[in-house]
Amino acid sequence: MGLHAIELPRRILVGSGVISEFTGFLEALGLSGRVLIVSGSHVRGSIGSRIVNVLAKSHGIPIWVEVEAATLDEVERVQRTAAREEVAAVVGIGGGKSVDVAKVAAYNTGLPLISVPTSASHDGIASPMASIKGMDRPYSMICHAPLGILADIDVIANAPVRLLASGCGDLLAKITAVRDWQLAWEDKNEYYGEYAASLALLSARFVMRRAEEIGRREIDGVRGVVEALISAGVAAGIAGSSRPCSGGEHLFSHALSLITPGVGLHGEKCGLGAIMVSKIQGDEWKGISDSLRKVNAPTMAKQIGLTEEQVAKALVMAPSVRPERYTILHKVSLDYDSALRLARETSVV
Ligand SMILES: [Zn+2]
Repeated sequence: MGLHAIELPRRILVGSGVISEFTGFLEALGLSGRVLIVSGSHVRGSIGSRIVNVLAKSHGIPIWVEVEAATLDEVERVQRTAAREEVAAVVGIGGGKSVDVAKVAAYNTGLPLISVPTSASHDGIASPMASIKGMDRPYSMICHAPLGILADIDVIANAPVRLLASGCGDLLAKITAVRDWQLAWEDKNEYYGEYAASLALLSARFVMRRAEEIGRREIDGVRGVVEALISAGVAAGIAGSSRPCSGGEHLFSHALSLITPGVGLHGEKCGLGAIMVSKIQGDEWKGISDSLRKVNAPTMAKQIGLTEEQVAKALVMAPSVRPERYTILHKVSLDYDSALRLARETSVV
């Protein structure tokens, strides 16, 4: 068994209004001086002035880089600014893309990363992985876990409902991901970490148990989803890979992104994938589908504008997206007709 380092965040602050604590949060991490903030223009418009006001007295006016996509070009732009301005840390504020760009830029420049999620849409909040377009692959790369995470529940609760539902899809996907990891251990003697697997599963079980409360967007439910997403990211950190969080359902989602870019959110596609992959693995697919419905996530492809042809194609293509990441989809290698049958049997199409 190879060795791997465990990457974990050092300080996490979750709660209502914690953005006001930004200064003390940075100080507790030993960070003084200006920070470089990476966000989209929308996030800057909604909470930018508040953050600048909080930081200005203690850490100076932050340097703000607006990014529109998680691409290598944007990463390089952030890195150039970081090199020019001498900053204490890179802060990624947003739903996913901005945190991913900040994560990779921080990794490449050796600067600490602070993650400030504005929605609970996927598990990249705390994980050491980032997805960047323009690299040789559609799945995530390993970099460092954020040094700190500041998750303001008030901000996250005000994000569009679709984002929270997507985060739940990404969490329910841990059920199929962990089974695929077990399969890789059984069939391919791959390293399997029971602790990391249990932790990832715990986050999925939380969503199943509290689906109705989350669907009503009760504040405790929202907070629970944020904590579950952080905890899933920590599971990946403990495993040293995305294995506990990402199996065949993620490969299905990545395949869809190649077939029809920009349609559906990551967690929405992973949720649909989890329903179908789970049907091949055993009998839990109905529970996954029910939970997705309760949290207002799609259970049918057409809800997010996907056709049955695209779904079937993506199921067939999924194993080739990542040949070395062995999953049940590699084992059964579906053809188009059997993929379509699976999608129909699970009412995904
Ligand atoms: Zn994911």
